[in-house]
Amino acid sequence: MSIKTNIEYINELKGKAAEKSGRKPEDVLLVAVTKLHSPAEINEAIDAGITDIGENKVQEIMNKYDDVKPVRWHLIGHLQTNKVKYIIDKVAMIHSVDSLKLAKEINKRAEQHDLVMDILIQVNSAEEESKFGITTEETDQLIRQIAEECPHVRIRGLMCIAPLEADPEDARPYFAEVKKIYDKYAGEKSDRIDFQYLSMGMTNDFQVAVEEGSNLIRVGTAIFGYRDYRSEEL
Ligand SMILES: *Cc1c(COP(=O)(O)O)cnc(C)c1O
Repeated sequence: MSIKTNIEYINELKGKAAEKSGRKPEDVLLVAVTKLHSPAEINEAIDAGITDIGENKVQEIMNKYDDVKPVRWHLIGHLQTNKVKYIIDKVAMIHSVDSLKLAKEINKRAEQHDLVMDILIQVNSAEEESKFGITTEETDQLIRQIAEECPHVRIRGLMCIAPLEADPEDARPYFAEVKKIYDKYAGEKSDRIDFQYLSMGMTNDFQVAVEEGSNLIRVGTAIFGYRDYRSEEL
């Protein structure tokens, strides 16, 4: 299967899931996750209509940036504060903010570049030890603190990585819980808090995530095939 065919197929499934939850196919953004894939493959996806790509490592963005056609980059993986400076002028949105410390560093670097960075708060609703993100209980406080202390940061929504379940149906409650928090803020519109993105759903569970209200899915494997982790040193 070609990258183009895969993208068409994902778009079809995403559209069906969107309609099932009373929305239009175009209401759900497909972010192609390109980690461990080459600029040539990424450009193929862009030629097939992809407008947004997601990477989980700063180093990979740096390595590929100049060889990839114009596109919106999303940082979707855990971000260390000391690496914010490398990507602050390269990415359109950071999905993985889970501390005030990280938000403050993003704020500082954004100010230096005279820009306002869009961020999502990563919520670990399943409270998995192995995952980054804050608990649902901590979410309100972090949102308020960032809004108060980080004028160069705009909180655009929430992100969640559900536990990898053999049956994606089992991830449904974790998505639903994050959607509830999202809805609390969806009506709020200010310079600092302007919710528009609920980033949930990957290859294994994006249909369930969209049915539960996700409007941004991050899909890698179903587009590009399995990742070869031996090429990690890319
Ligand atoms: C790798 C990754 C994805 C995509 O996963 P697939 O299962 O390949 O679709 C999505 N989100 C994050 C944060 C990732 O690191």
